[in-house]
Amino acid sequence: MADEILIKPDLQFVKRIMAAGGQDAKKCYQCDTCSVVCNPTPEENPFPRKEMLKAQWGLKDVVKSPDIWLCHQCSDCTVYCPRGAKPGEVMGVLRQMCIEHYAIPPILARMVGDYRFLPLLIALPVVLLLLALKVTGRLAIPEGDIVFAKMFPWYVIDVIFVGAAAFAVFVLAQGVMRYWRDINAEPWKVKLKGSVMSNLVPTLTQIVKHEKFKLCETTFARSLNHLMVFFGFVFLGAVTAWAFVKEWVFHSPGPYFLLSPIKILAIIGTALLLYGIYQIIVARKANADKAGYGTYFDWQLIYAIAAVGVTGLGAWVFRLMGVKILAYPTYFLHLTSIFFLFFYAPYTKLAHLVYRTVAMLHARMSDRGF
Ligand code: SF4
Ligand code: SF4
Repeated sequence: MADEILIKPDLQFVKRIMAAGGQDAKKCYQCDTCSVVCNPTPEENPFPRKEMLKAQWGLKDVVKSPDIWLCHQCSDCTVYCPRGAKPGEVMGVLRQMCIEHYAIPPILARMVGDYRFLPLLIALPVVLLLLALKVTGRLAIPEGDIVFAKMFPWYVIDVIFVGAAAFAVFVLAQGVMRYWRDINAEPWKVKLKGSVMSNLVPTLTQIVKHEKFKLCETTFARSLNHLMVFFGFVFLGAVTAWAFVKEWVFHSPGPYFLLSPIKILAIIGTALLLYGIYQIIVARKANADKAGYGTYFDWQLIYAIAAVGVTGLGAWVFRLMGVKILAYPTYFLHLTSIFFLFFYAPYTKLAHLVYRTVAMLHARMSDRGF
């Protein structure tokens, strides 16, 4: 006789899924169409039907599943679901709950996922930056040419943003290590092949090329738009790293000439970021009826990235135009949005960069066809 399995449904968990954007999860009648039309899913033990069942039944351990991160939210399943249960959206909500589950402190994770706390979350960097201006005696618009370092000297930027980045890396690392432990324990325990290091390079190559994402059909353009934003981030990250090295190793901080390589890289990065995010917004709205509109969690990250790009471009343009009264406040907003994006990264959808990488690495090592 087969072993008995004790199922412990958690109704609060079901309510949370429905409140966070998975309100149609209960419509699912387990026909399995979603798993059949999903191109990225492995053939063996495919998703998302089984995750839909667990979500409906309140089996909250599903948030620790390695498979929820193999879904790339292309929404083919949502388009073809005969019941309108929106499995793509439900998978997104499960990932949000996974991030919340592993992030510390959990209260901050819950606040970041709740739109009612947005003003408070924005207030933190605003107050911090205003405090820095007050302490350094720079609350007024600086005299003379527009040089942003007159407002926030490099050492102030470094203290605030290196601190924010260190906090984010620490929280993310803690969460991901606990997630890795869980996906290597029962009921997901499988024999892994090869070492982490030998599998990491092919996994990262697959991610950089968006190989799985490109398998999506209905919203194929989403993978291209995502790729632009991804490389926008990579280029701007390289620019930031170069500026950091110039400052601390060569003791030669900016400003940079308009046609210097670092400036050109920054312009290309900003253009990719802005165009990619604009296309993401347009495509999501255009496909909302068939593929789902997305949740607050999705849109929060989209608008945070857009805010970084728009304010960065705005501050640069206003500086070139010599409009002080707009350049400095826009730069202030730029720093606010950068802080928001990175400090809260372990709690927002941006954490998918790390969780999905770990899940795809695990899938490759466990022969899941990734
Ligand atoms: S989510 Fe839709 S397609 Fe998938 S099993 Fe349920 S009813 Fe069928
Ligand atoms: S959203 Fe796309 S990748 Fe995710 S389960 Fe649905 S079809 Fe598969």
